[in-house]
Amino acid sequence: MPYFQVNEKCNGCLSCVQNCPANALDSKDSDDKRTILHNMSLCARCGNCWRICPQDAVEFQHILENKWDEVTILDLVRCSVCNEPLYPVEFSETLKVKTGEEPEPLCPRHKKAFDSLGDAHFVQYRKSSKEVEKR
Ligand code: SF4
Ligand code: SF4
Repeated sequence: MPYFQVNEKCNGCLSCVQNCPANALDSKDSDDKRTILHNMSLCARCGNCWRICPQDAVEFQHILENKWDEVTILDLVRCSVCNEPLYPVEFSETLKVKTGEEPEPLCPRHKKAFDSLGDAHFVQYRKSSKEVEKR
C-alpha cells in the first residue's frame, strides 16, 4: 500500500505534481494512460499536495497520522520450556543453513539452566572418577 494515496475524485489535473516543493510527485503519460508517481524518500510530508488539490482527492491522513505499516508477518519459534517467543521460523532455517545444526528452541534463561545442569553432571562425573582413581 503506497503512503501517498488519492481517492476516486482525482482527475489527473497535476496541480499536486506542479506544486510539490520537494519534487516528490511526478507524472507519466504513456499510451492512453496518465500515472501519478510519488517518491516517499523525497517527500517532506508538508501536506501542500493535500491543501492544493482542487478535487480534495489526496488521502493524506496516513502520512499525517504517522502510522506504522506492517512490513511482513512471520511465524515465531517459541522456547520449548516456557513458550517465550524466540525468533521467526525463517531465521531458524537461516541459522540451520549457516551452522549445519538445528538451533535449540530455548530462551536464554532456560538455555543457561540446561547448561548448568550439564556442567553439574560433568562435575559429578569428574568427582566420581577421582574417587575411583584413589581406591
Ligand atoms: S491535484 Fe488532486 S486531482 Fe489533481 S492530480 Fe493531484 S491528486 Fe489528482
Ligand atoms: S507532502 Fe509535500 S513534499 Fe510530499 S508529495 Fe505532498 S507536496 Fe510533495
